[in-house]
Order: sequence, then structure tokens, then C-alpha cells
Amino acid sequence: MRRSQVADQLAAIGLPALPDPLAAPIADSHTHLDTVCEMVGVDPELSLAAAAATGVTRLVEVGCDVAGSRFAEHLASRYRQVVAAVAIHPDEAAELAARSPEALTDAIEEIDRLAGSGSHVRAVGETGIDHHNTPEGPGWAVQRDSFAAHIALAKKHGLTLAVHDRQGHRDILDVLDAEGWPDRVIMHCFSAGADHARRCLEHGAWLSFSGTVTFKSARPQREALAITPHDRILVETDAPFLTAEPLRGRRNGPYLVAHTARFIGDRLGLDELDCCRMLDRNTSAAYGGEWGADHD
Ligand SMILES: [Zn+2]
Repeated sequence: MRRSQVADQLAAIGLPALPDPLAAPIADSHTHLDTVCEMVGVDPELSLAAAAATGVTRLVEVGCDVAGSRFAEHLASRYRQVVAAVAIHPDEAAELAARSPEALTDAIEEIDRLAGSGSHVRAVGETGIDHHNTPEGPGWAVQRDSFAAHIALAKKHGLTLAVHDRQGHRDILDVLDAEGWPDRVIMHCFSAGADHARRCLEHGAWLSFSGTVTFKSARPQREALAITPHDRILVETDAPFLTAEPLRGRRNGPYLVAHTARFIGDRLGLDELDCCRMLDRNTSAAYGGEWGADHD
């Protein structure tokens, strides 16, 4: 699809305009094209075309439940520019367990199966702790157990662990320390400050920055970014959520990761070409190797 055709289709749906193409290709290291489709009305084909039109040539499609994880696996099996992450999100884990203990066990069994389905599945995630959406109570213990089970799956399949952490910094470190850190761990949508960043970096984790790092209130995240070694920095949209400034509040898509990538480059004093190359290299390393047009 030509850039002008993509631009017209986005405008027809009322979405933000395409940013100028980036100086070099990058990846959106965490996105949800199924939710983009449901909430925004952009089908995955158009999401991928819009991304490519801005130089976002690869992406990681992340599952949050069984249906989303099956979708991610399927999308990655169809498109060479996509790899998948599969998991039961901590909020979903708490809900399933509240329904019946078997419901969560069965769901994690399906994640185990999907995690082993081929080299297009690169990560177990997003899993972790969410003390914001899940109220204090039995759900918090369920989240810890589910996180531990996902850590075991990442190790079993030799995959990256993609961690969701919302107001759960201490539990995240507790569970990882107790279970043992997998070889590759990504702190998705890093939301803490420099102290927590240091703890994660000590274990070799990558910190993935979303559009929230551009928000006025995000001084702690910018301090974390400033102390993160350049080879540990990732960029993501978490689309359709968390749209970066200057488009905060609008619907997000992988093509808008360009705004956050440029913001990171500015903060670090890197020119755009170097920043893009750095981010692209880091995404491959964090997800266990390259993929895309020339790679399987
Ligand atoms: Zn996400």
C-alpha cells in the first residue's frame, strides 16, 4: 500500500496523521493489534502498512489471554515482520482463578502449547503483577503464582519473559528473585524510577519505554531512561493505549512509536539514525534474534 493510501485510510477513521518516516527501520517492541482492531477499527493489515510507512518495519504482537495469545501466534505465523508473545495477563489470571482454579490452569496449559509452536513465538508475556486493576485480596496471590508459572514456561521454552508491572515493583522483584531470572527479561512499559531500574538492570533486563515517558508527569521514568545503558533500551506503543505526546489521549498504533523513538533520541542526545539503529538492534537482542523480511 502506498503511503498516501495509508494516510487516507487513517484519516477516514479519524486517526492521527503518519509521522515523517524514521531515518532507519525500528520495531515496536510491544503492541496489541487485536485490540487496535476491536477498539479503533484498524485491521492488522492496515496497522502493518501504516507502521511500514513510517519505518516501523517489525513488531511484537502480545497476547493477554488465550484468545489474544492464539491471535498473536497466528499473526506471527502469517507475517514475517511479526513475532508473538503469549501469556495470561495478571488481571486476567485473577479473574480466571476467581471463576475456578481449573480455568487458570487450563489457560496456562494452552500458553505452554503456544509457547512451543515455533520460532515465530519469541516471548512469554505479558505476565506479571497489577495492583492497580486487581483489588487487594486473593487476586494478588494468584498473580504471584501465575507469574511464577509463566517464568517457568519462559525457561522451559528458552523464550524471553515480557513483564507487566503496574504498582507491583516489589512483588515483581520478589517473584523473579525466588524463581530465578530467565536469560532474557523485558520490563514492558517501564513505569518506575531510577532505583527500580538499577535493580532490573543488575539482572540484565531490558527496559521498554512507551509513550508515557513523554508525559509531563513522567519525570521518574525519564530519570530511569537517563541511567539505562544504551543497549538495554527498547521502545514500544502498547497500542491502542498510552499514545505519546503530542497526541496523548488519541488512539495509538504501532506507526506512532516514531514519536516516542524521537523523544528518546532527543533525551539521550543521539541523532535519529543512531537512535533508530540502537533501538532496532536492542529489540532483536531482547527477543532472541533478528526477524523480518530477510529472517525467519
Ligand atoms: Zn501490553
